[in-house]
Amino acid sequence: MRSLFIKRAHLKEILTKARESKVEICGFLIGTMKGEDAFVDYVVFAENRLNSPVGFEIDPLETLKVLEKAEEEGKEVIGIFHSHLNCPPYPSPRDLKGMDLWRNIWLIVNNTGEYRAFVLENGQIKEINVEVI
Ligand SMILES: [Zn+2]
Repeated sequence: MRSLFIKRAHLKEILTKARESKVEICGFLIGTMKGEDAFVDYVVFAENRLNSPVGFEIDPLETLKVLEKAEEEGKEVIGIFHSHLNCPPYPSPRDLKGMDLWRNIWLIVNNTGEYRAFVLENGQIKEINVEVI
């Protein structure tokens, strides 16, 4: 995995919601892989059912619907995103457990407008480039 390509409008929408929310926001990045690069076609916001400022959880049924829709469209869930409040956009120990289950791209933003993307590779956190297009 080399880079995550995301449109400015999509990133802005995520960052705006993250800034305005009192709890972590979360959702899915739907798109296509081209070789080592991931391209976001659209984003789907999901409900954080923990409703927490320090963690998030997405309903498995909601996840399944998103997966099925992406598959029907010939796309894939290339990543998930969530926000942190008043701390850097770096995977928390809790996130690491999620990353172990969801081996795709983890885009993490925070309420001050920072954003970084990570994948778990051989048990190690690896940061990947975010290319805003
Ligand atoms: Zn997190």
